[in-house]
Amino acid sequence: MGQRVIDPNDLPYADGDFYAFESLLSEAERARLLDVRDWLAKEVRPIAVDCWNRAEFPMEIIPKLADLDMVSPVHRQGYSNLFAGLMHAEFTRADTSIATFMGVHDGLFTGSIEALASKEQQDAWLPDIYAMKKIGAFGLTEPLGGSDVAGGTRTTAQRDGDNWILNGAKRWIGNATFSDWVVIYARDVADDQVKGFLVDTSTPGYSATKIENKISLRTVQNADITLANLVVSDDFHLKGANSFRDTNKVLKVTRLGVAWQAVGQQLAAFDVARRYAVERHQFGKPLASFQLVQDQLVQILGNAVASMGMMVRLAQMEDDGQAKDEHSALAKAFTTARMRESVALGRGILGGNGIVADYEMAKIFADAEAIYSYEGTHEINSLVTGRAITGLAAFV
Ligand SMILES: Cc1cc2nc3c(=O)[nH]c(=O)nc-3n(C[C@H](O)[C@H](O)[C@H](O)COP(=O)(O)OP(=O)(O)OC[C@H]3O[C@@H](n4cnc5c(N)ncnc54)[C@H](O)[C@@H]3O)c2cc1C
Repeated sequence: MGQRVIDPNDLPYADGDFYAFESLLSEAERARLLDVRDWLAKEVRPIAVDCWNRAEFPMEIIPKLADLDMVSPVHRQGYSNLFAGLMHAEFTRADTSIATFMGVHDGLFTGSIEALASKEQQDAWLPDIYAMKKIGAFGLTEPLGGSDVAGGTRTTAQRDGDNWILNGAKRWIGNATFSDWVVIYARDVADDQVKGFLVDTSTPGYSATKIENKISLRTVQNADITLANLVVSDDFHLKGANSFRDTNKVLKVTRLGVAWQAVGQQLAAFDVARRYAVERHQFGKPLASFQLVQDQLVQILGNAVASMGMMVRLAQMEDDGQAKDEHSALAKAFTTARMRESVALGRGILGGNGIVADYEMAKIFADAEAIYSYEGTHEINSLVTGRAITGLAAFV
């Protein structure tokens, strides 16, 4: 008997949702997720590799994303955290860079305004932010302050009458080469506390230079920012951003988003590797017919499903107000470790073509490295969890 021929366009479990987690969504949420999945397949996936190769952000996608109306799904639109998480995974599955653009504008930037600005400030700023008429960035990391930025913020803020004077440098700031606004976290020289400010990027004293030659998230425009005697009115000091404890309120939520990205990244690896394994023949048979290849595909799927299961429960805890910092930290550490294994397996399944971006897998493989390191590295998130389970801080 010959092997049955599998049509790669007709594979079972095409949504990657092996344990039907999406059935936990409301009907309206599920319909919306399917709409966005179609939209991403039409608008994002076809352009993703080319943008990545050229290391250019497709600015024409911004009005389309604005029409999609996906900024602040939980806070503004009343969707569940599970919906928001699955949506972020879905964006990542289509392209990690576009998902990261949204993660920065929506999660880090809009999240800062929603969590830390006064009601008056929110009323003034959020309508344009939600409509994506103003694009935002989030400036916390510095050239000399990464993992230790909480206690090591060197950028300073000095009160001067009704204004503040900002001086310093920021590194890695996503979207900042073209964003209209950036939230800058700076240390108040008077009380030594980290405060947040909404900075208009056209203000004199602000400059942003693109970080070139990245091997990961090439489409995302990350910048080195310099702030030289930049004057910002006290009206733009986020009234609830007065210590790093406040900044952490934003990071706790966005860390969850990154763990969802690790889910999406593994689904992408599964999609691409499985399709390739069915289409590509060696020894007169599809790669997918070999037992070792099936085992590798199953390992990717198992990793993705385990990560998703953890995230689904965490989304429920977030809805119920039970999720703590350490829950986000373990999720980020665990899912990104599984992700690294999954994308490496996927890359191997494509053989030599696995290192050529045109086949998508090389992009998926390389983009996983940024997910592993940003929003608190794997190690730092392990240590946050370690502190919670031992009562001992291994870092200060
Ligand atoms: C693509 C990309 C996009 C980003 N976007 C943004 C953004 O938009 N805004 C923003 O503010 N930041 C952004 N970041 C910064 C990101 O959050 C930092 O890179 C991250 O926090 C790690 O800091 P670092 O790179 O300085 O590494 P370092 O802190 O120098 O760490 C280097 C290594 O040492 C390890 N290490 C450090 N301390 C310890 C310890 N105590 N114990 C054990 N190991 C330790 C780390 O885990 C890591 O492996 C981005 C980064 C990347 C790569």
